[in-house]
Order: sequence, then C-alpha cells, then structure tokens
Amino acid sequence: LIQLYVPLNFLGVLYREVKQGLTDLERMFALLEKDREIADAPDATVLHVAGGAVRFEHVSFAYDAARPILHDVSFEIPAGKTVAVVGPSGAGKSTLARLLYRFYDVTGGAITIDGQDLRQLTQNSLRKAIGIVPQDTVLFNDTVAYNIAYGRPGASQAEVEGAARAAHIHDFIAATPKGYETMVGERGLKLSGGEKQRVAIARTLLKNPPLMIFDEATSALDSANERAIQGELAQAAQGRTTLVIAHRLSTVVNAAQILVMAEGRVVERGTHPELLALDGRYAHMWRLQQTHGDTAAATDAPDSPT
Ligand code: ADP
Ligand code: MG
Repeated sequence: LIQLYVPLNFLGVLYREVKQGLTDLERMFALLEKDREIADAPDATVLHVAGGAVRFEHVSFAYDAARPILHDVSFEIPAGKTVAVVGPSGAGKSTLARLLYRFYDVTGGAITIDGQDLRQLTQNSLRKAIGIVPQDTVLFNDTVAYNIAYGRPGASQAEVEGAARAAHIHDFIAATPKGYETMVGERGLKLSGGEKQRVAIARTLLKNPPLMIFDEATSALDSANERAIQGELAQAAQGRTTLVIAHRLSTVVNAAQILVMAEGRVVERGTHPELLALDGRYAHMWRLQQTHGDTAAATDAPDSPT
C-alpha cells in the first residue's frame, strides 16, 4: 500500500504543478488574445495628455454581435474631475472601464481623451496614462515588490513602501518573513481579495497616472479599511481625471457627476443632491443603503476572488 501511495502522492504534486502551469498559460493566452483583438493602427499616434478630458460619444458595444451590451452611452469626465458610475450588477459598468482602457474597441460611437480617438492611439501610450484597479485583481507570480512596482518600473524601495502605506498594505507585508520579497500568486503567498485589491491600489498610486479607473476597487475590504483607503483614493483623485465604479454610494457623494446605469444605458445623471431631488433610482438606492448599510450595495458584490 505504501508503495502505491508514494507514486500517487508524487503524481498529485506533479498534477498540481502542471495544472498551475496551464493556468499561467491560459492567462498568457488570454492576454495575447486581447492584444490580438486590439491592434495599433498603422498610423497610430502617441497620446498627448493635456488635462485628460474623457468623452464617451454615443458609445455602443457588444462582446458578441448577437448581444448588445451598451446602448448610446454619452458622458464626459472634465479634465481633473471625478465621474462615478453606479447601478445593478450586469448593467455594463465594468464594460465602460474596459473600453476606456481599450481592452476592446467600441462597436459604435467613439471614446476620446483630450479629443484623441482611442482607436487612433498606440496602446502603449494609452495604458501608460491610465491607472486601473480592476474588479478582480490578478497578481503576477512574483514578489510583492515587483507587483507594486509594476506600475512604475525602476521605482525605489522607499517609493514602493510609500505607496503600500497609502494603500494600507504595508503593515501586512512587513509582517511576512520575507517582507517585500515575499512571492505572491499561485505559487506563493495567497492573498485575500481585499489584500490583492490593496496591492493593486498601491500599484496605481505609485504609477501616479493622469487618468485613473477604480472598478469597485474597495469592494472586498471591510467598512473600516474601506473608509480609511477611500480617503487616500479621494486625495489621489484630486486634479486627476477619474472614473469610479462605486460599490457603496457613500463613496461617490462628492463626484462631479454620478451616472446611474441600468441594462447598458445611462438612466439618470447628476450630482448627489440633484439625484436625491430627482427621487428616482438613485434616491431609492441611497435610502436603502442608509437603512441597511453595507448589505445594500450600489452594485452587487464582485465574484469571490480566486
Ligand atoms: P457590471 O460591471 O455593471 O456588473 P459588466 O460590464 O461586467 O457589468 O457586464 C455587462 C454585461 O456584459 C453582462 O451581461 C455580462 O454578462 C456581459 N459580459 C461581461 N463581460 C463579458 C465578456 N467578456 N464576454 C461576454 N459578455 C460579457
Ligand atoms: Mg463590474
């Protein structure tokens, strides 16, 4: 029995190794796939950010031609301002973020930054200008330091630590035996959804880009941590063009404009007081959250992190 057990156990280890290797390959192909979908135009130009005003002009979009997702979405984020997006799960909020980062091209209409159509820009220059904290952060199988500094290669240890402190993840990292040299990801230290989000926030703060996208960036944090980090994010957003997809309405009350999305359309828009006065969907969501707190989020919670 022992003789049988040992090789099987060994196979188990081998199987895990192979499986993890495949996961990496799949991720890599998924990334390559995206790059193949979006190709730089032969005459693509480099993005010049002059303030960073974002415009969505009659944007429509479908992942599959058979199923339109966004319908005639128009809005503007004035240079240096924050626009927030709220609405139920499946409304198309994350799709807006993905289009602005140009993981996909619009099906109709246009997205511009300071008047430059995203389709005319090199992807490299676009992505250098935008920091994104996605809904589900996937970390590289590398050190914590690498994962944070990825936002700005060549950053000093002090800069990496400063960003980690601002994202309230420094103490956690410092408490691990290898600190910033700790390997994370599938073959290293497994981080919770909230810890991964904080690493991604640190990365974006370090990158210090003129445009930022936060897609439910603090949804996996407990309320106390969320409040603490929201302060840092609000400070980082000062003077930067920011698209915030909000999990809890309390985090968007100061936005220059709030868009309420439903089924791929903007169904309400305005400032927090304007939307309360309108007494529509937003006002309804607001009242629910005042009564039920965290259990009535502005969006559904993201899928549990993997
Ligand atoms: P939200 O962020 O508001 O929850 P999403 O923008 O993620 O909504 O999704 C909007 C719609 O698009 C949903 O119906 C979702 O199922 C669909 N969708 C999202 N991503 C993909 C994808 N990669 N391929 C096909 N459909 C997708
Ligand atoms: Mg989403």
